Amino acid sequence: MTTKYTPMMEQYLSVKATVPDAFLFFRLGDFYEMFFDDALLATKELEITLTGREAGAEERVPMCGVPHHAVETYIARLIEKGYKVAICEQVEDTAEAKGVVRREVVRIVTPGTLMDGKLLQEGANNYIACVAAANGLFGFAACDISTGELHAASVAMPLEQLTDELSIFAPAELVAAAPVLELLKAQPAAGLRPYVSTAWDRPADAALFFGDERELVELERLGAASRQAALQLLGYLGETQKRSLSHITRIRRYEPNQYMTMDPFTRRNLELLETVRDRGKRGSLLWLLDETVTAMGARQLRKWIEKPLLSVARIEERLEAVETMYKQLIVRDDIRTQLKDMYDLERLVAKISYGTANGRDLLALKLSLRQLPELRAVCAASGSATLAALVAKLDDCADIAAWIDAAIVEEPPVSVRDGGIIKLGYHEHLDKLKEADRGGKKWLAELESREREATGIKSLKIGYNKVFGYYIEVTRANLGQLPEGRYERKQTLANAERFVTPELKEQEALILEAQEKMVDIEYGLFTELRERIAGEVHRLQQAASIVSAVDALQSLATVSAAHRFCRPAIGDGYDLRVVAGRHPVVEATLPQGAFIANDSSLGEKSGHVLLITGPNMAGKSTYMRQVAIICVMAQIGCFVPADEAELPLVDRIFTRIGAADDLIGGQSTFMVEMADIRVMTEKATDRSLVIIDELGRGTSTGEGMAIAQAVIEYLHDHIGCKTLVSTHFHELSGLETSLPHLRNARMAVKENDREVTFLRKLVPGAADTSYGIYCARIAGLPETIIERSYVLLGAFERRAALADGAAGAVSAVPKREQPLILRETAAAKDAVQLSLFPDGADDAHGGVNKARKQASRGEQQAAQLAEQLRTADLINMTPMQAMNLLFDWKKKYSS
Ligand code: ATP
Repeated sequence: MTTKYTPMMEQYLSVKATVPDAFLFFRLGDFYEMFFDDALLATKELEITLTGREAGAEERVPMCGVPHHAVETYIARLIEKGYKVAICEQVEDTAEAKGVVRREVVRIVTPGTLMDGKLLQEGANNYIACVAAANGLFGFAACDISTGELHAASVAMPLEQLTDELSIFAPAELVAAAPVLELLKAQPAAGLRPYVSTAWDRPADAALFFGDERELVELERLGAASRQAALQLLGYLGETQKRSLSHITRIRRYEPNQYMTMDPFTRRNLELLETVRDRGKRGSLLWLLDETVTAMGARQLRKWIEKPLLSVARIEERLEAVETMYKQLIVRDDIRTQLKDMYDLERLVAKISYGTANGRDLLALKLSLRQLPELRAVCAASGSATLAALVAKLDDCADIAAWIDAAIVEEPPVSVRDGGIIKLGYHEHLDKLKEADRGGKKWLAELESREREATGIKSLKIGYNKVFGYYIEVTRANLGQLPEGRYERKQTLANAERFVTPELKEQEALILEAQEKMVDIEYGLFTELRERIAGEVHRLQQAASIVSAVDALQSLATVSAAHRFCRPAIGDGYDLRVVAGRHPVVEATLPQGAFIANDSSLGEKSGHVLLITGPNMAGKSTYMRQVAIICVMAQIGCFVPADEAELPLVDRIFTRIGAADDLIGGQSTFMVEMADIRVMTEKATDRSLVIIDELGRGTSTGEGMAIAQAVIEYLHDHIGCKTLVSTHFHELSGLETSLPHLRNARMAVKENDREVTFLRKLVPGAADTSYGIYCARIAGLPETIIERSYVLLGAFERRAALADGAAGAVSAVPKREQPLILRETAAAKDAVQLSLFPDGADDAHGGVNKARKQASRGEQQAAQLAEQLRTADLINMTPMQAMNLLFDWKKKYSS
C-alpha cells in the first residue's frame, strides 16, 4: 500500500520528482523547507537542525529549513560543494487558491549557472560547457550566463583537443548526452578544474531562443557537432533558468587553430592563471599582468592569456596600442581615470536582461555610461590607430543613461518592491499620489498639535507601526487628562497607551492606500524601464566589450612600462632570438636587480634544440619557462621581459615539466609522462615550442636515458620544433656531435675552495655534475645521510670509471667527496657575466676551468686504477692482502 500524505506533501513529492538531482528548497511562509533525504543531507552539509513534520503518514517526515531572507548564503554553500538547488516558490495568491496553493520551481541554481552572489569571481568568467559528438567531431559550447557570452567550436576526435579547449574555459559544470558523458568520465582529463556533470540531451528551439535572424544563420554555419552542443546547452539553460535569456544575444563561433594551443598541463606548468603550488592567482602571469581597472577588463585579460593569437596582424594591433600607452603616461592615466568610475557593464546588463537588477544597478549603469564619451575622446586623441579604431565603434548609449537619469533617484533602496526608486517628475499620477502622501503626513503633524492643544498633554504624539497602523500615544501619567469617549484604546505598553480616533482611521486609510498604489506604480515603472533597457542589450554589450579591450590593453601597457619590457618583433620567420630575457614573475618576486637575465637563440643556424645541464636549483626550469612565457606574452600583444626580442609565431607550446601523477586518471607518473610525449610527437610542428624538464626520470636510468635520447633525436630529425630540454643525464650532452641542430648549454656555477655560487647564467657547453647531494644538504637532510651519499657517490663513480676503462674508453667525471658549501646567488651579479654562444667561447671563470682540470686528472687516475685492477693477481691473494690493496687504492684515488 502506498503511503498517503497530506496534499501539501503530495505537492512537494510531485515537484521533487521533476528535480531529482537537486536540493528542493520548498517555500512555506518565511522559510524554504527541505524534506526526506534532502533534509537529512542538508542538515549535514549546512549544519542546520533536523526536525520533522506531520505529513499524513504514520511517521513524521524529516525536515529542515532556512529563512527566506538568508537563502542566498545557504544556496551558495551548497553550490560551492558541487550541488544544485531548485527553488520552488508559491505562484498564486493564497486568497485565490482553491486547496493547496500552487508552487513551481522557478529556477535551478547550479555551479555553472550563477548569476550573481559571492561565488562569482569578479575578474573571472563562470562557464558551463556542453559537449556533443557528430560526424567524427566533438562539438563544444561554453556559456557564461552572468555575462551572456556563448562560445562554440568543433574539435577533432580523440579527446586531447577537446581537453585543451575545455581547459581554456575551465567550466564549473559540464552537460552532455549520457553516452558522451560516459566517454568523458572514462578518460578523465587531468589538469582540468573539477566540474559538476549532468546528463542532458534535449536541444533548445533555436527560433524561440534567438529572435534575431542573423543568429539563426550563425547557428546554421556551425558544424553539426558544435550546433548540437550549443543547442543542447541552451536547452539546459532554458530548463534550469525558466526564463528568457535575452542577454545571450550571439554565438561566438571560433576556430581553435586561430589561437596558440596549450594543453591543461602546459597552462598549469607555465602558471599562466594560477600557481601550481596552491592554485592561487598570486605568483601567476595573470597576477603580474593584471593592472586592469574594471572587472570586465580583468576577465578580458584573462581570456587573452588563455588564448594567445596566431595572427601577426592582430598581435601588431595590440602591440601598437600598448606602445602608445607605454610611451604616454598621461594617456594611460587618463584612460585609467575614466575606467575607475566604470562598473561591471557586462554583468549589469546581464542582470537587467535576467530581471534581477535593482535601482542601484541601473544607477551604476548610468554612471558607467556617463564615462564613455570622455573615454572615447581620450582614446581617439591618443595617437594609437588601434585605440581609435576601437572607440570609433563605441556607442556611448547616452539615451539609455538619460532614461535612467530621468527615472531613478540618486540613492535608490536595495529592494525594488518597497518604493522610493522613482524620481519626482517622472510620472504624473505617481507625483499626485506622492503629493497626497505628503499632504497626509502634514495632516498628521497638524493633528498632533491640535490634540496636544485640546488635551493639554505636551508629550502626546502620533506614531505608526505595521500591526496597528497610525495611533495617538499618551503616557500613563497623562492618561487622566484624556477626555472620555472619542479615543479608542488600541495597544497597552508598559508606561503608555495607544489610541485611535475615527478621523485618524479615515486618514490612515487614505495614506495607506496612496502608499500601496505608489509602491505598485513605482515597481511597474521600474520594471518597464528595466525591460526597455534590456531591449538595448546588443548596444550595451558592444560598449562593454570595447571598454574591456581598452582596459586590458592599458593593463598590458602599465605593466610593460613598470617592468621595462620591450616591444617584440614578431613575424612569420623561424628563428627566435632574445637578448637579456627574464622570467617576469620570478623577477617580480625577487629583490630588484637580483634576477639574472639570459639570452636565447633558437634557429636554423644557432640550433633549434638546446640541451641544458647543470646543478639542481641552478635555474634551468626558470630559464625554460621564461622562453615560453616570453612567447605567450608576445602573442597576447604584450611587451616582453627582455632587452630585445625577435620572435616567430608559435603555434603550440608543449611543456613536460616535473612529475605529475594523474591520480584521477589512475595512471603512474611514468605513464603520464609517456602519454604526454606521445601527444607531443603527434601534435608538435616545426612552429611549436617544446619544453622538457627532466625526461625519462621515472624508470631505470638506462631505459630512461635511452628514451630521452630517442625522443630528442625524433624532435630534432622529424619535427624540427624549437626544443629546450633539461636533464641530469650528463651523458646526453654527447648528442651535440651527432645532432647538427643541437647545442649544449649549462647553468654556470662558480666554485671557490669549498663554496659553490649559482651564477644563474646560461653558458655554452655541458655540465658534469648536478650537485644533488649539496642541494640535499641545503634542504636539511640528516648529516649521516649526506656523508653516506658522498661515500656511495665516490664508489659509483669509480665503478663507472672502471667499466669505461675496461672498455677502453675512459670518460670520467670529476670526483668530489668533500662536501662543498653552496652559496646562493648573491654574488652572481658581480660574477663574470657570460654571453650565450659567442663564437669559440669557452668557460671564462675559474670554477669551470678547475672542473675541466679535475676531469683530466680524473681520467688519468681512472686509467691507472683500471690498469692496476687488471693486473692484480686476486687468485693468489689472501683476503687480508686484497683488503689492503683496496685500502691503498682508496687512499690514493680519493685524495
Ligand atoms: P632543479 O634541477 O632542481 O629542478 P632548476 O635548475 O630547474 O632546479 P629552478 O627551479 O629553475 O632551478 O630555479 C631555482 C631558483 O633559483 C628559483 O626559484 C629562483 O628563485 C632562482 N632563479 C632561477 N633563475 C634565476 C635567475 N635567472 N636569476 C635569479 N634567480 C634565479
